[in-house]
Amino acid sequence: MSPSRRGADWLVQDTSPADVFTPERLSEEHRLIAKTAAEFVANEVAPALAELEKKNWTVARKLVARAGELGLIGVDVPEDVGGIGLDKAAAVIVGEAVGEAASFATTFGAQTGLAIIPILCFGTPAQQQKYLPRIVSGELIGAYCLSESGSGSDALAAHAKAVKQADGSWLLNGEKMWITNGGFADIFIVFAKVDGEHFSAFVVERGFPGVANGKEEHKMGLHGSSTTPVVLQDAKVPADNLLGEIGKGHKIAFNVLNYGRFKLAAMCTGGARGTIAEATQYALGRRQFGQPIATFGAIRHKLAEMSIRLYAVESMLFRTTGLIDEMIAAKPSEAPEGAKEGKVVAAALEEFALEASILKVASSEMVDFVVDENVQIHGGNGFVADYPAERRYRDARVNRIFEGTNEINRLLIPGILIKRGTKGGLPLIAAAKAVRDELMTVAPPEASAGVGVLDAETRIAAALRKTVLVAVGLAMETWGESLQQEQEALMSLSDLMIEAFSAESATLRAAHAVASSSPAAALHVDAATVICHDAGLRAEAIARTLLGSMLTGDAQRTALAGLRRVLKVPPSNTVAARRRIADAITGKRGYPFSQ
Ligand SMILES: Cc1cc2nc3c(=O)[nH]c(=O)nc-3n(C[C@H](O)[C@H](O)[C@H](O)COP(=O)(O)OP(=O)(O)OC[C@H]3O[C@@H](n4cnc5c(N)ncnc54)[C@H](O)[C@@H]3O)c2cc1C
Repeated sequence: MSPSRRGADWLVQDTSPADVFTPERLSEEHRLIAKTAAEFVANEVAPALAELEKKNWTVARKLVARAGELGLIGVDVPEDVGGIGLDKAAAVIVGEAVGEAASFATTFGAQTGLAIIPILCFGTPAQQQKYLPRIVSGELIGAYCLSESGSGSDALAAHAKAVKQADGSWLLNGEKMWITNGGFADIFIVFAKVDGEHFSAFVVERGFPGVANGKEEHKMGLHGSSTTPVVLQDAKVPADNLLGEIGKGHKIAFNVLNYGRFKLAAMCTGGARGTIAEATQYALGRRQFGQPIATFGAIRHKLAEMSIRLYAVESMLFRTTGLIDEMIAAKPSEAPEGAKEGKVVAAALEEFALEASILKVASSEMVDFVVDENVQIHGGNGFVADYPAERRYRDARVNRIFEGTNEINRLLIPGILIKRGTKGGLPLIAAAKAVRDELMTVAPPEASAGVGVLDAETRIAAALRKTVLVAVGLAMETWGESLQQEQEALMSLSDLMIEAFSAESATLRAAHAVASSSPAAALHVDAATVICHDAGLRAEAIARTLLGSMLTGDAQRTALAGLRRVLKVPPSNTVAARRRIADAITGKRGYPFSQ
């Protein structure tokens, strides 16, 4: 694999299937970890769910400690602070396994991502040694206090205040809202403004005077996870517990979110996989009109579509994981002397922030679709609490809200791209101009079904990248600096980028399956075919709306003609492809890829 890839460069640079990490390329060690994690969830977490839903936090603590004992909390944490020191791929597969139990996954996610990452990436060696081994072992429970009732998306507008005392310690005042693990956490990463001005972070222990949590929220879902306000009333925090620098809290908050978004995608893919198995088994067992409902085309279409959407997100997730791991592995030798591993991790997460936002949006919307179709496949039984379909449906909804709402992430995606293109060395403008010139001078080759396997899909994926480049270039030209106020356009650009990344990642994964003569290669090709075909059609509609909103008259007609030339989606029998995937699903009684 090439260690030289940068965030967002897939848009301006071709990628070879050999350079892409996929679930099929997991090592034996990864598979063993996945097995350990899956067994822990099935044998220990799932049976405890009823107790967790009664808000029995003693049980939650025990489960976290057990996860620590099995090495699952610190799988990607360096060994010198109590972890196992493996790569992010290992963390992703643990996240996937835990994602099958959404309430516990939320507790676990707050522990691994929200509590460990700030201290690992921004803590002093003394803070790391003091807190990390005990959080990694599950002895201490962590929580992350960024949001307030008046500042959720606009997190930097927090009112919580920190004032330095004569002895160097800090007095914190404020109220944080919706804090995961709030009811039983021991350690809180708290964001507050020094003197009401400089956004900063602190490690706050429950035992410090003036720290308390409020009542449990009555939530739509995730009843087995604790969510409370955290109240700081003249909370006395020692000088040593300032995390990072005064006024640099935003760096901590944003990097933690980058990791959280990436890990959330793993939890969503894991949850979707379990849901597809549940839907399949129900559809095979439930008989109507004298036959299992799994034999009806309408239901088979649903099962196939659920799996295809999961395949697309999984392909993006593992591709990004590979990129992050390559960057982390390549860095230590180049990093300035004394650079700590946490800093290298933070840099890699920041590098792939755009991909993390794509993953957050795509995975949360994919799992919402999957749990919704699961309810539909269950019919009336899907609407009653006797079946897990109802809980899955409620539990999934919050994924579109936390870790930055999907609207905020959709604003970030083109925002990061344009920033990298104008100030960050990504040759975006040149690439957009090259595509425009190509469209003005030579007609691109006719998109045909192609003679080779995945030819058509490869062309559609390339055409989607070109569509993004043309659309971003035109939007920058049309609106200039004020593009950031054109939210509808930014949403469209973001959607185009998600379609492009998804289609290309799925095609590269399928190409790798073909090149490695996988017995499932034909099924991978079917998935990539449907993903590219449908992404192409959706992208056309999005791009037409976008072009219509920014151009008029001749300019609009020329741009639409260019769009028709670049984005040609050849006809394809996606019904037959979905039927073959549905056969594989019912044959395997669940998601047919990567297990
Ligand atoms: C179960 C649960 C657990 C949570 N856990 C934690 C935790 O552990 N720690 C923590 O700090 N927080 C946590 N949160 C809070 C969560 O991060 C916030 O709810 C989230 O960031 C959204 O903020 P908000 O609720 O204030 O919504 P708002 O910011 O008020 O947003 C409302 C709507 O407006 C949209 N919107 C807002 N700003 C813009 C804009 N500029 N442009 C376009 N649209 C916009 C949003 O997308 C959304 O649709 C949790 C929340 C829940 C529900």
